[in-house]
Amino acid sequence: MTIQVPSQFFYEWLEEHYVQVLRRAIDTELGADGRLEYSLMMEKESEQSKSFVNQVQSKPNGNAKNVNYNAPQTVKSPFDLKGLDKFSFSSQLNVNYTFDTFIEGDCNRLARSAGYAVANKPGVTSFNPLMIYGGVGLGKTHLVQAIGNRIKQNSPDKFVLYVSSEKFTNQFLDAIKNNNTQEFANFYLQVDVLVIDDVQFLSGKEKTQEIFFHIFNHLHQSGKQIIMTSDCPPKDLKGLQERLLSRFKWGLTADLQQPDFETRIAIIRKKMQSEGVEISDSVVEYLAYSIDTNVRELEGVLISLIAQSSLTQKEIDLELAKQTLQSIVQNIESEVGIDYIQKFVAEFFNVTVDSLKAKTRKREIVIARQVAMYFAKEYTNLSLKSIGFHFGNRDHSTVIHALTSVNDLMDTDRKFNATMQELIKKLKLKAA
Ligand code: ADP
Ligand code: MG
Repeated sequence: MTIQVPSQFFYEWLEEHYVQVLRRAIDTELGADGRLEYSLMMEKESEQSKSFVNQVQSKPNGNAKNVNYNAPQTVKSPFDLKGLDKFSFSSQLNVNYTFDTFIEGDCNRLARSAGYAVANKPGVTSFNPLMIYGGVGLGKTHLVQAIGNRIKQNSPDKFVLYVSSEKFTNQFLDAIKNNNTQEFANFYLQVDVLVIDDVQFLSGKEKTQEIFFHIFNHLHQSGKQIIMTSDCPPKDLKGLQERLLSRFKWGLTADLQQPDFETRIAIIRKKMQSEGVEISDSVVEYLAYSIDTNVRELEGVLISLIAQSSLTQKEIDLELAKQTLQSIVQNIESEVGIDYIQKFVAEFFNVTVDSLKAKTRKREIVIARQVAMYFAKEYTNLSLKSIGFHFGNRDHSTVIHALTSVNDLMDTDRKFNATMQELIKKLKLKAA
């Protein structure tokens, strides 16, 4: 199956968000021999958005150059490759995730500059390990891959390896199955720079943590650089062994925060520029005001906007931006929106919607309010700040507190947990 895309950006976005769905469809329709290819519309750099749009419209095959990006480079399991020298391994880095394309802002300054220091002196600074943490879509993967890419650029002879914790775990489980855990370990022990993404995934996986612990120690003692990401700070990583956590704190821990307004503006400008799309300041500002959750979401809206403009052959103006945004937000929130959640929860707990928004601290209302906040976070696209706003203008730390309380209660109180499961089932029915 070949998907024709107008630019690399589309390709990456599809890969990142839909690769599983595509794989499944290809498996069902084409069987094991099915392959996924992307074909990239080539455009002259000097050409502007309009012509790029027209090109897609009128000459679907014109100028198309087949580029088999086929990003999931068939990764042979490391232990098949025994005997090969390490330089023949792929780093598994996405070459587009660089420092050049990573916009710097208040939200990421510390993490970025620590990353930059490590990139230029891997294993030498005291930032070892370097742990980057932050919520989903805030640029963790991009930043750590930028570090990896820069190290490779500076020292092509270094074996830089990017691996997600999930893949690491699966490789290890395969190794156990095939009785070659020693080869597995040996492979990782040769790495000069290990970039391991989303370590929260190792939670509860005792055996995998054990081997990771040994690999970590060996690499660290040999002065090799370790770079990790996680969706929360080390102290909040549940289900990870204490001895691992204490090592994570040896180096530097830096967080990525939600992009501030200035950074959002800069990101929109840069993305549009790299797509060759012109867009006025007022549209840029409108988008930056409207989408304040994370960068991935921002990119999603930009993709839709470019696609919308290309399909309708309309220029991207404020009106189109509003329409596009509305249709996306509606999609997400039409069924289970914040209003619905408040009504649903209030009814269930037999309290009024107004009381959820009021100042009252009566126990049963507090619980109902916290549950409603929890669902708002789970089932709508609203940021913590906007959720707080919908509950009597409470601030985002109150919302965080509510989420933690509900999570804790679900963990400790079986009856509460059962109630929650019932509510979740009903909400999901509504959402489907
Ligand atoms: P995470 O790993 O934290 O979930 P990603 O690194 O996958 O997030 O980032 C999501 C998307 O947002 C990627 O396409 C990435 O390129 C983009 N992105 C994130 N932060 C920035 C930034 N500061 N500048 C430019 N693009 C960014
Ligand atoms: Mg990531």
